Amino acid sequence: VTARAAASDARLGAIRALLIDMDGVLVRGDQLLAGATDLLSWLERRGIGFRLLTNNSTLTPELNSQRLAGLGLTVPAERIFTSSQATAMYLNNHGVAGQSAYVIGEIGLRSALADIGLETPEAPDATDWVVTGLDRHVTYENLKTAALCLQRGARWVATNSDSSLPVEAGLVPGAGALQAAITATTGQKPGVIGKPEPHMLAMAAESLKVPPDRTAMLGDRLDTDIAAAAAAGMTSILVLTGVSNRADLSESAVQPTIVVEDLPSMMGAWPK
Ligand SMILES: [Mg+2]
Repeated sequence: VTARAAASDARLGAIRALLIDMDGVLVRGDQLLAGATDLLSWLERRGIGFRLLTNNSTLTPELNSQRLAGLGLTVPAERIFTSSQATAMYLNNHGVAGQSAYVIGEIGLRSALADIGLETPEAPDATDWVVTGLDRHVTYENLKTAALCLQRGARWVATNSDSSLPVEAGLVPGAGALQAAITATTGQKPGVIGKPEPHMLAMAAESLKVPPDRTAMLGDRLDTDIAAAAAAGMTSILVLTGVSNRADLSESAVQPTIVVEDLPSMMGAWPK
């Protein structure tokens, strides 16, 4: 056992909560990845709390849970934390009940914002907030209204800043690409809640009542999952079944605490 392996062993042994990215970690497209089902029962047996964390703002936790169930993975909605929920929690902490927001986003974001009592008019002249996520039905009118609300003093919060999304056909515009149109218009930039910012991870660890230094983030992307863990002061585990590969790793300024090939090797690397 090398000194470096022993140090990783000690860090993993101290972990009481695991935050798990979904795409590229548990699932890829419509396929469950090896070890996904075993991982959740393995965590339960060890008494390690977990949350599934996704930057995807379009689905509610219930819809995410149904999607996973359709692939054969049972995860209760309460264990799933989306960037939309994190955004709603952030706004709720700012005491926004009764205030207004112009929203660009789908059901995942709209439903999370409805839960905190924020008014979300369809075509306002001015609002207290502009809240943006991915919206696959966005129109010029939507972008124009958001830009005008910002010019009239609204504060801007975004679920995440992913510029693109990988789908089978290639890369398609993400929430960050829509936001870029508003930034180009107004010169303003949103406060971002999702990964690579630390807010969402900090909220998830807090909900599990585990301090950041005993929490690990497991993800497949250096630029979001691993960067967010570093910003939140958490251990990070890069799994090589998704976006980032060994070549990316050797060129990256952001380095994970631990690198594993897949989920079975991650469970194998854990101290007994
Ligand atoms: Mg991922």
